[in-house]
Amino acid sequence: MLITGASRGIGAATARLAAQQGYALCLNYHQRADAANAVLEQVRGLGVTAIAVQADVADETQVLHMFEAIDREFGRLDVLVNNAGMLEQQMRLEQMDAARWTRVLGANVIGSFLCAREAIKRMSTRHGGRGGAIVNLSSVAARLGAPGEYIDYAAAKGAIDSMTLGLAKEVASEGIRVNAVRPGVIHTDIHAAGGEPDRVERVKASVPMGRGGQAEEIAEAILWLASEQASYTSGALLDVAGGR
Ligand code: NAP
Repeated sequence: MLITGASRGIGAATARLAAQQGYALCLNYHQRADAANAVLEQVRGLGVTAIAVQADVADETQVLHMFEAIDREFGRLDVLVNNAGMLEQQMRLEQMDAARWTRVLGANVIGSFLCAREAIKRMSTRHGGRGGAIVNLSSVAARLGAPGEYIDYAAAKGAIDSMTLGLAKEVASEGIRVNAVRPGVIHTDIHAAGGEPDRVERVKASVPMGRGGQAEEIAEAILWLASEQASYTSGALLDVAGGR
């Protein structure tokens, strides 16, 4: 299983749960080698084979090198979790510039497309593979729009939803299932990048369950979609958002 953005938050929680279930793991990270190595030690402590690979998922050359490392170390790929994602400072759309949109769409959209492409080349029965599963991280922002905060990020997640729907149909007959998890507001570092580390506390009043979610609660949904238990599920957009 390749988990992009596995050094922190939802990706790290997914790595720990996957290790408990016995998956051999490639843990991707962008900048935080310290955090990635801590997760690597945790999952190896659970007895599984694992490597950590630095790559900016928005960079095609770096993504190709990451998949070459997977080919070398494991010789096959069964599951891709397209989890790496980011957002920038909260602001209105008319305050944003094109360079920001390039960064936000690059990391969230192009990154997922690049990893999906390389995964399909290895998984698809059309290319001699054994099939597999792709789980994309979208967000409830895709249907809420994130007004006043980050419409660009919400739109990027809307693109992930459309990619999930189209790709699920494109590769369904080739042994590959493609689904998305749409988390609500989850306790991770991502909100600090928007300039509001305590965002979960403010937003939780709008969550029917009255609380933010934990990364482990998202990991459970990701691991289910990746598993044989979800063998007839493809093209699903699974909201894990406390009823929001
Ligand atoms: P997080 O705690 O900020 O962690 C982000 C992870 O992504 C880190 O491992 C980071 O690596 C990695 N990353 C960021 N940009 C990258 C890039 N260009 N290339 C490779 N890796 C990159 O975020 P999170 O809250 O766990 O979010 C995980 C996913 O869930 C994202 O797709 C996010 O949009 C989605 N989501 C989160 C929430 C929420 O409330 N937290 C809600 C809905 C959806 P480094 O550690 O090296 O920087």
